[in-house]
Amino acid sequence: MAARILDGTKIAAEIRAEVAAQVKTLAASGVRPGLAVVLVGHNPASEVYVRGKVKSSEEVGLYSEQHTPAESLTTDELLALIADLNRRDEIDGILVQLPLPPQIDAKKVLLAVDPAKDVDGFHPMNVGYLSTQRPGLVPCTPAGVMEILKRSGIAVAGQEAVVVGRSDIVGKPVAMLLLNQNATVTVCHSKTRDLPEVCRRADILVAAIGRAGMVTRDYVKPGATVIDVGINRVTERKEFERLFGGKSFSGNKKREESFLAKGSTLAGDVHPEVAEVAGALTPVPGGVGPLTIAMLMANTVKAARMRRGIA
Ligand code: NAP
Repeated sequence: MAARILDGTKIAAEIRAEVAAQVKTLAASGVRPGLAVVLVGHNPASEVYVRGKVKSSEEVGLYSEQHTPAESLTTDELLALIADLNRRDEIDGILVQLPLPPQIDAKKVLLAVDPAKDVDGFHPMNVGYLSTQRPGLVPCTPAGVMEILKRSGIAVAGQEAVVVGRSDIVGKPVAMLLLNQNATVTVCHSKTRDLPEVCRRADILVAAIGRAGMVTRDYVKPGATVIDVGINRVTERKEFERLFGGKSFSGNKKREESFLAKGSTLAGDVHPEVAEVAGALTPVPGGVGPLTIAMLMANTVKAARMRRGIA
């Protein structure tokens, strides 16, 4: 039986609507949460992400501002900008878009963001809050994964969860969130032995690897929930065929047309054939991706409430 497709676009829209309602309620008491997005230089992918974040902020009624210093910015200059944003009361959330140009000390910059305004949840203080189950700001993509599970009625407590990937921004926080919700969690990475076998233990399998279609059906226990965090651009025809050429993939006609027109398509870390074995699966695009921005909006409102002591 084909897997249930978990519609991230729909879940993200629900969250954005809830955030918009909260923004309205806060406005009635004279508070308008504010988000500052900092984009250094001209990375085309980052520019697309930042545009999406600013547009979404406007849609839910947040105050937002964008800072776009030149590529040649120094670490000290960026630290001065962060210090200014930390000081300004109307700014509740500060997001520094990564990657930063090589001359900038990214770790120093992320450490300089006031943890109370750290809507990306990357500051070690927020990492510590998450691992000790204290209230704090949780990274957006991992928080989005948990929202998909919750809103799709997928139980987490007592389940075997396997996370492939151990990055600070996805793999580790997802693992911690699953653990905090009482899953039995295994974290895998490039040195894990017998990866398919370990993955087959999972009731919930999260792939955050960055390799198109690496998770094939051999990695998946029949009926498991598979969350595909990967976003990979496929440009080679042969790779396209490997991923989308099989009879199993129902959407290949539309995808092929778009691939031919644009010369590329987005693929997850999970091979589309997994839909034949999994019980539930997030698509790419339209799965975890849309949740990231929705959770950024939610985090900005959460930061505004926490900073002002509003329940
Ligand atoms: P990352 O920092 O490159 O981490 C990748 C992880 O995958 C590492 O832990 C690495 O292991 C592991 N890995 C790589 N090759 C492997 C292999 N052959 N077998 C087992 N493990 C392997 O990537 P990331 O930032 O976490 O992102 C992961 C993916 O999610 C990317 O496709 C990214 O574009 C996507 N992403 C999506 C969103 C969204 O909004 N949906 C947000 C963020 C990221 P080692 O630690 O041993 O090197």
